[in-house]
Amino acid sequence: MELIIGKTSGFCMGVKRAVEETTKVVEEARKIEDDEKNITYCLGELVHNPQVIQNLEQKGLQIIEKLEDIPDPKGKKVIFRAHGVTKQVYEEAEQLGLVVADFSCPKVLAIHKIAKQYVQKGIPIFLIGEKEHPEVIGTASFCGENYFVIQNEEGLQEAIQKVKGKINQLLVIAQTTFNLQKFEQFIETISKELQGVTIEVKNTICDATRLRQEETGQLSKNVDCMIVIGGKKSSNSNKLYQIAKANCNNTFFIENVNELENMVQKEGITEDDFRKYATIGMMAGASTPEQSVQEVVCFLEKQ
Ligand code: SF4
Repeated sequence: MELIIGKTSGFCMGVKRAVEETTKVVEEARKIEDDEKNITYCLGELVHNPQVIQNLEQKGLQIIEKLEDIPDPKGKKVIFRAHGVTKQVYEEAEQLGLVVADFSCPKVLAIHKIAKQYVQKGIPIFLIGEKEHPEVIGTASFCGENYFVIQNEEGLQEAIQKVKGKINQLLVIAQTTFNLQKFEQFIETISKELQGVTIEVKNTICDATRLRQEETGQLSKNVDCMIVIGGKKSSNSNKLYQIAKANCNNTFFIENVNELENMVQKEGITEDDFRKYATIGMMAGASTPEQSVQEVVCFLEKQ
């Protein structure tokens, strides 16, 4: 059996930076001999990967849902994760006197910057992305008053009808993990429907996402089995799974090696099922640590 691990598999630059820097911060905080001060808080899960989170929690990281959950916040350290946060969260952190370690991905911060520039110019914004995703919620908070978050064709049509005949300029930006093909289709629709409007398109989709999606597409066409490793809550891992599944029927989406072992034990998939594949492709999501990939490799090599 030949195992092919995607070249773009695993941590992207933004997640790698957030995990490495957070590890440094929690390890530093641990040296402080004060039970209150040696806790580092993180607003939301640092990455959508339970193993990474568990590891950091053991080192003293505490995940909180809201800044107000931090007891006696003045001087306490809080981490902002790669997805970025809202304008209001920055303001609240300042009011509470928190010490912020902002590990928002530079690519997400760049979108916030673009949004702010266009708000200043008074130009309305179409933000293409998943409405409930923290990155989109964060970006939307920098889009002023005249913006629409668009996540599907229906939403796109609604937004177009609302602005038609009322605007002469428009900015279109996207969530970093949005599907490129869909984004291009949306741009085509917008250009057709809003003729006469000056449309500025900033393709803010992250290369890491595009390259990983393209490689997953290629790889899954050329192997007998695909294994996608990633957190079930991770939007980019779910997308990789969908892409691989569309090309390769024998695609498995697992969070870690335990799930693969359980499948072998419980779901009637036998070791022989893996042995029969001449080639197995593997891709890990942007928040999947290398250790998880290596554990799966070890498991498969034993088959
Ligand atoms: S996927 Fe791209 S934008 Fe998102 S954290 Fe990674 S590098 Fe940054």
